[in-house]
Amino acid sequence: MTTAGKIYLVGAGPGDPDLLTVKALRLIQAADTVVYDRLVSCEILQLIPNSVARVYVGKASGRHTLSQTEINALLVELARKRQRVVRLKGGDPFIFGRGGEEALVLARHGIAFEVVPGITAAQACAACAGIPLTHRGLAHGVRFLTGHRMENAALDMDRASLRDPGQTLVIYMGLGQVVEIVQELVAAGRPQDTPAAIVERGSTARQRSIVTTLAGLPAAVRRNGIEAPALLIIGAVVALAGELDWFTPWLQEAELKYA
Ligand code: SAH
Repeated sequence: MTTAGKIYLVGAGPGDPDLLTVKALRLIQAADTVVYDRLVSCEILQLIPNSVARVYVGKASGRHTLSQTEINALLVELARKRQRVVRLKGGDPFIFGRGGEEALVLARHGIAFEVVPGITAAQACAACAGIPLTHRGLAHGVRFLTGHRMENAALDMDRASLRDPGQTLVIYMGLGQVVEIVQELVAAGRPQDTPAAIVERGSTARQRSIVTTLAGLPAAVRRNGIEAPALLIIGAVVALAGELDWFTPWLQEAELKYA
């Protein structure tokens, strides 16, 4: 008999349920409670058995349903009630998902936890938009950044380190600050005509991917009415997207099959 609960910090991947790990699925099916975020797709929520309690802690129309402190407290409380809790997060829990903060709280309360990695948006969006994040001769490295502006702090970017044309940049949460991001990258020395892509709802049947240039990003976001969740990918590798687009034909085929 279990004497204490356990929290599983589980990555739900980018939205397509087929991209959930087998371990994530197994844990969801065996949980007492699933605590989930806004980014977890409906298709994945449908995999939670009816007998499992669900708690939604994502944002609703711009405000948090629960603050991070309240979420932390909830996890501690559920573990103390000896529950097996799946804390389900979009993508990977340790990439811009505040999974590290939650894990620290659990560790400091002596609560057992496991971390189950998920496919992060950068991997899924790049794969489904036909953009290899690294590619011999074009990109020897890749960097994941957040474009989110904390209250009064500057964008989380350090110019000198952004100049390297051989490093692909992937920017999470960048839509709201796309103008400032482009200014920063151009000031850092990235040419305005660097290939750049926006991938909206990557990996899902509603994915849109738009290829433009670094300077063209703000207009492309506006013109296409891009909404979150969307990712920005910047670097020479984006130029391969046209030739490597396997996703559009695949979607068309899937639509015909299920129409
Ligand atoms: N932990 C998540 C990231 C959470 S931050 C992960 O590993 O993917 C939220 C940001 O992730 C969004 O603003 C967006 O930039 C990106 N994102 C998440 N899912 C996405 C998707 N399906 N398509 C495009 N961007 C996505």
